[in-house]
Amino acid sequence: MLVFKFGGASVKSPEAVKNLTEIVSSYSENLVVVVSAMGKMTNALEEVVFRYFHQKEGLEEAIKLVEDFHLGIMEGLFPSKSHDVYKKTGHLFSMLASRVSDPPSLNYDYDYDQIVSYGEVLSTTIVAEYLKEAGLRARWIDVRRSLKSDNTYREAKIDWELSEELVKKDFFFGGDQILLTQGFLASTINNLTTTLGREGSDYTAAILAYILDAERVIIWKDVPGVLNADPKWFDETILLRQLSYRDAIELAYYGASVIHPKTIQPLKQKNIKLQVKSFVHPSEEGTLVGDEVYDKLIPSFIFKMDQVLISISPKDFSFIAEENLELILGFFARHGFRINLMQNSAVSFMVCVNNDKTRIPRVVKDLEDHFLVRWENSLELITIRYFDESTISRVLLNKDKVLEQRSKETVQMVVRDII
Ligand code: ASP
Ligand code: MG
Repeated sequence: MLVFKFGGASVKSPEAVKNLTEIVSSYSENLVVVVSAMGKMTNALEEVVFRYFHQKEGLEEAIKLVEDFHLGIMEGLFPSKSHDVYKKTGHLFSMLASRVSDPPSLNYDYDYDQIVSYGEVLSTTIVAEYLKEAGLRARWIDVRRSLKSDNTYREAKIDWELSEELVKKDFFFGGDQILLTQGFLASTINNLTTTLGREGSDYTAAILAYILDAERVIIWKDVPGVLNADPKWFDETILLRQLSYRDAIELAYYGASVIHPKTIQPLKQKNIKLQVKSFVHPSEEGTLVGDEVYDKLIPSFIFKMDQVLISISPKDFSFIAEENLELILGFFARHGFRINLMQNSAVSFMVCVNNDKTRIPRVVKDLEDHFLVRWENSLELITIRYFDESTISRVLLNKDKVLEQRSKETVQMVVRDII
């Protein structure tokens, strides 16, 4: 049995869904197919949540955009308006409409998960109907019945014991060849929807592969595999053909957006190989992640834009002592931050995070009760794994270095543009 993951670009149009169907049809093994939201629908739904929660104008338009996008895809796949898919998705659209006609809760992250999850439920409903239409023996499974989590909305932690039991019970093939389900979603013990963090569908694929003892996981992407840099920033990139689990974890951790950071751990534990392949050229090998170490010395570059460097110092100029660090890190953890880099000096503690417009004001407010807080916006965080001096000078062209951290294999630099 293999586990596939498709999402975003690989399901962004009728042609993309047809291409997915061709890829899936070319395999004779049993498949668990994990699908996330279509195109940029998660971002579009985030917009819905924002307007709903803050009771801002434009909510209806934001919802309409989501509906129209899905309708456009369905019209390209199912010419007959009497097809069941229109009824099924129509039902989902009216549930969404009725949810946002009720007043918001007091918890943004809770509302976020209840609304943003429609992206995955809609995409899998459409893809499942199309696979059946194409004659494949496919069954749609609501992953929320099987994957259980705590109630940390937007960053839910899997309850492994319960999930193992439920997944093993629900994910059986019977006469089917394909079990199609949602990435990114789980639910609490009370069946309230949770999400696993942005880009969490890769992680879902890994969890299911682990529990079901899959032979292999394939993540289908619009790039040829894991590259040594994002083609968005570099003209010439190198395909990393084979990566160790360790290298894959590190690259993902520093922000190479090809694989979600949590994905590798469950696979490594059971020695399940991961392939990252192109859905445009499915016969090419892509990148294979496994036990062996290869391509070790090719420098990889990771750029994170729109970074904020928050600098925290004691009000009385005393040293930043351990108790302070505990307090500071506690605030960041409580507000659900992922810290990209931190550095301690005698009089201040610096934390580099993504520019999250809802969370930053909250954490700054908490910090200011105890510390002097300053911050700088519009920074960039550059990570080079397997660096040398020439790779460093290459990325520092026209940049000012604000902060640097080095280990044997990796250098990280916070930089600003020279203007
Ligand atoms: N749809 C979710 C997101 O865009 C999950 C995923 O794509 O993996 O973050
Ligand atoms: Mg993704």
